[in-house]
Amino acid sequence: MASLLCQKTMTLTLVSTFLVALFGVLYCEAELERFEHGAKPDGSLSFLVIGDWGRRGDYNQSDVALQMGIIGEKLDIDFIISTGDNFYDKGLTGVDDPAFHESFSDVYTAPSLQKQWYIVLGNHDYRGNVEAQLSPILTEKDSRWLCLRNFILNAGPEMAEFIFVDTTPFVDKYFTDPEDQVYDWRGISPRKHYLKNVLEEVESALRESTAKWKIVVGHHTIKSASTHGNTYELNVHLLPILEAYGVDLYINGHDHCLEHISSNSSPIQFLTSGGGSKAWRGDINWWNPQEMKFYYDGQGFMSVQMTQTELDVIFYDVFGNVLHKWSTSKQLFSVM
Ligand SMILES: [Zn+2]
Repeated sequence: MASLLCQKTMTLTLVSTFLVALFGVLYCEAELERFEHGAKPDGSLSFLVIGDWGRRGDYNQSDVALQMGIIGEKLDIDFIISTGDNFYDKGLTGVDDPAFHESFSDVYTAPSLQKQWYIVLGNHDYRGNVEAQLSPILTEKDSRWLCLRNFILNAGPEMAEFIFVDTTPFVDKYFTDPEDQVYDWRGISPRKHYLKNVLEEVESALRESTAKWKIVVGHHTIKSASTHGNTYELNVHLLPILEAYGVDLYINGHDHCLEHISSNSSPIQFLTSGGGSKAWRGDINWWNPQEMKFYYDGQGFMSVQMTQTELDVIFYDVFGNVLHKWSTSKQLFSVM
């Protein structure tokens, strides 16, 4: 009897040890990786945002890159953000795909663009070998390359917190109606569990953030008047979290245009920078003019300059002309 009890206790201990270990593993998996990027000596920070670009220089990709180099020099940028769809039409075939050099390293050659790139994946990247774009082998080939599914960047380090979100797995139609496309879903299965984890981690990062500015970057739109329009799944699952924790900017690509939509229901600014190469001229749907601050259906890119108290957004066309400027400010200390 005593030995039976002892056996039971041992089994329970083993089970609980196993559960603790399993929980530990799951917990570790859920944590988003964090990176830090210092501000300039004067405390300011500036960066460019480009999206939907990799076409071996074609469709004016090289012209946009040239102007990014010039503006990047002028603003003394600290880094570059890519909002995804990094390689058309089907991502990369593998880590040795020549498109990596032909569409990235050999295109963004200006001295000012030799900075860290923080990169998310787009739906076209999922049509190729996703693991290749996430591989550190690409960073060995070009040290600027940093692409992860979901991650956090503390810049300043307390000035701005950027949360990069992998939005493609949120979109139902890629699973239910893939339109003859094959998507590389390795690493996100089971999908429900993956999405739940992402949302929990985004929420926890925003809740704990003490940064002055909170910025979320994803490939898909939340609000857009262009071809793809609003992404329903992000409006349902992600937007309420961004609203609850006072996110300042949501930055995306996917619609091949430049766009700035503000919201009547929250202070979030919705910024689309998806004009890195092929643009969709003429595609615009009606939007409330009170919210639509700017829409341009050609190629171009965006810059952001910030201090602890000021934030300036500028959109540029393929010739480097300034198309739209928007500024906001915050008090250094919040009023009690
Ligand atoms: Zn896209």
